[in-house]
Amino acid sequence: MYQLTDVKKDYQKDRTTVQALQGVNLEIGDGEWLAIQGPTGHGKSTLLQMLGGLDRPSSGIVDFNGTDLAQLRENQVTRFRAESVGFIFQTFNLVPTLSAQENVEAALVPGQVHASERRSRARATLESLGLGERLRHLPSELSGGQQQRVAIARALVKQPQVLLADEPTGNLDEGTRDEIISLLEQLWREYSLTMVLVTHDSTVARRAQRIGIMKNGKLSIRQDTRSRDVRATPDAPAGSAASAAESPGSAESAPTPF
Ligand code: ADP
Ligand code: MG
Repeated sequence: MYQLTDVKKDYQKDRTTVQALQGVNLEIGDGEWLAIQGPTGHGKSTLLQMLGGLDRPSSGIVDFNGTDLAQLRENQVTRFRAESVGFIFQTFNLVPTLSAQENVEAALVPGQVHASERRSRARATLESLGLGERLRHLPSELSGGQQQRVAIARALVKQPQVLLADEPTGNLDEGTRDEIISLLEQLWREYSLTMVLVTHDSTVARRAQRIGIMKNGKLSIRQDTRSRDVRATPDAPAGSAASAAESPGSAESAPTPF
């Protein structure tokens, strides 16, 4: 799905240059769940921005299914974000003046989905995440866990292939953290999402298939359990799921079953 080659990102700040990414090489397979850990300020969020087409690298290749995101025109990147990627953030980033339903609908505006379909898809997604009774609530009228569920609905309603989560449980208490991570894990499995999750929390990271550590703008892989087959279900034998995960390029990307 992703193939990053020597990705570098410099930020200019007050006549000094911050080298946020210093040559990241990374392959992410279709349907993989990768966790990224590492100290603050070492490039984790910057890496997610590259994966999500929120920003461009200073140099290097961010290949997504054969297309270098760094080379796309602005309208093509906008379409990529609107159709293929869902984002989840630590601070939820909901619009405070919009209801839960309206926040989720807003995600479909760049994808040019018709208003009536926006409404029905937003409602169905919120209902599927247990928020059917909260459609008209403002973010300030919801708990942290509920706000993050709305944010997850906003990401999912696009029917993305990729879910990028930047410390999604950083503002939640332990119980809610576990609930949100279990939900993300369930959605990852159910919709064959490719999930990249940045977290400070080792309890969370250990549930991923691979753990990458970002340090000084470089990424190293610390744990890889993909061959242990986290995803096996009774109708998908362990062997096939494991081998598919090991050769991501060989499987045709299936339409997302929303
Ligand atoms: P992390 O998510 O690991 O905490 P970031 O990717 O946010 O790290 O930041 C990496 C480095 O890049 C930090 O030193 C940060 O200050 C710097 N940085 C991030 N975004 C910007 C920006 N927009 N302008 C200038 N410097 C930035
Ligand atoms: Mg960050």
